[in-house]
Amino acid sequence: MDVKKIREDFPIFRKMINGKRIVYLDSTATTQKPYQVIEKIKEFYENYNANVHRGIYSLSEYSTELYEKSRENVAGFINAHPEEIVFVRNTTEGLNLLSYSFLWNFLKPGDKILISMMEHHSNFIPWVRLKHFNIDVDFINITEEGYLDLEDLKNKLDKRTKIVSLSHVSNVLGTINDVNEISKIVHDNNSIFVVDGAQSVPHTPVDVKKIDCDFIAFSGHKMLGPMGIGVLYGKYDILKEMAPFLSGGEMIKEVHINNIIYEDPPLKFEAGTPNVEGSLGLSAAIDYLKNIGMENVRDHEKRLTDYAFKKMDEFDDIVIYGPKNVEKRGGVISFNFNNGNRYIEKELIKNDIFVHPHDVAGILDSENIMVRSGHHCAEPLMDFYRIPATTRASFYIYNDEEDVDILMDGIKKVRKVMKIG
Ligand code: PMP
Repeated sequence: MDVKKIREDFPIFRKMINGKRIVYLDSTATTQKPYQVIEKIKEFYENYNANVHRGIYSLSEYSTELYEKSRENVAGFINAHPEEIVFVRNTTEGLNLLSYSFLWNFLKPGDKILISMMEHHSNFIPWVRLKHFNIDVDFINITEEGYLDLEDLKNKLDKRTKIVSLSHVSNVLGTINDVNEISKIVHDNNSIFVVDGAQSVPHTPVDVKKIDCDFIAFSGHKMLGPMGIGVLYGKYDILKEMAPFLSGGEMIKEVHINNIIYEDPPLKFEAGTPNVEGSLGLSAAIDYLKNIGMENVRDHEKRLTDYAFKKMDEFDDIVIYGPKNVEKRGGVISFNFNNGNRYIEKELIKNDIFVHPHDVAGILDSENIMVRSGHHCAEPLMDFYRIPATTRASFYIYNDEEDVDILMDGIKKVRKVMKIG
């Protein structure tokens, strides 16, 4: 993969701050956008802007055609049918759609939902809130190395368990959960399997038929696309039975005072004017990724993670969270300065962090190295490791070994400024 050439497609990488290029290592939060995506949005507003599924004039019909073509492209990308693709704002909205809709006609008091200790708040709060309606929520344990404890999943699955909702790839630990295996376990129990694909669909080939998940949610902005467009894939037979989430225009066939007939999926779940520009931008982003090849994206990130791990070995006071095996993790590296304790053992890590991640990120920023620091919207996971926060560097197609080297120099600067070692 020619990273230098890829970087030329991203206008933001022409930007210099204090005479130096930026080293963007926060793609887990959001990715940068290539001009192909930016131009597509501009092209839409300059040439085709009209509301969709409404007008019968040609511009509106064409805009509708573009919107539906984007849906087809998204569907093809994850091996789904277009009518199984619901456009939402982001992963968060996709998961909220499910929790609200299930509450309407799938769930009853006493039912149980299983999530895990490594979930992003977006796959945590929408389910935990259902406790208010006397729906139980239980949490699958993880191991110290950050793997999901499948035995615990099996033990906690029971007749009451209606839904299991898990991240495919953890945004903190990088752990790749074995969703194929989990899907079988969950379906053997006749439960619904929801996948939070926010950190998998952008980084690795995802085939919903192979996984056999019932739902997967992901965000366009984490895969080169614009903000404000996301996707909820759902098996059509289930979508058909589900109640709408938002209601109003666009999502109905007929409305009378005493009778409302909803549209079929996916339009049933797309009330109001949709984000047409976003769908086109996402489709352009998918074309860009397809051109590189998702296997190549995954291999590239694996290689960079391996390279970074080897480099970080130099520092014996850094602890890295999550699996050490790069085959089982994505390109997300969360770490802390940890008093020389390289391996996570609860008793050791308890109070040992001696440089706050915000300080680390601040010092790195002085070198234009952009990493995330904080709890990464995964506070239950921070509680599990008994830490307040981590520093997180994450990789994508526009990062290379040179970026990792610059990060390592930045870490040396952190050590110097904070007088470590
Ligand atoms: N799930 C995971 C695993 C994530 O990493 C994120 C974003 N950090 C989300 C859900 C939420 O994504 P969004 O903010 O785009 O809704």
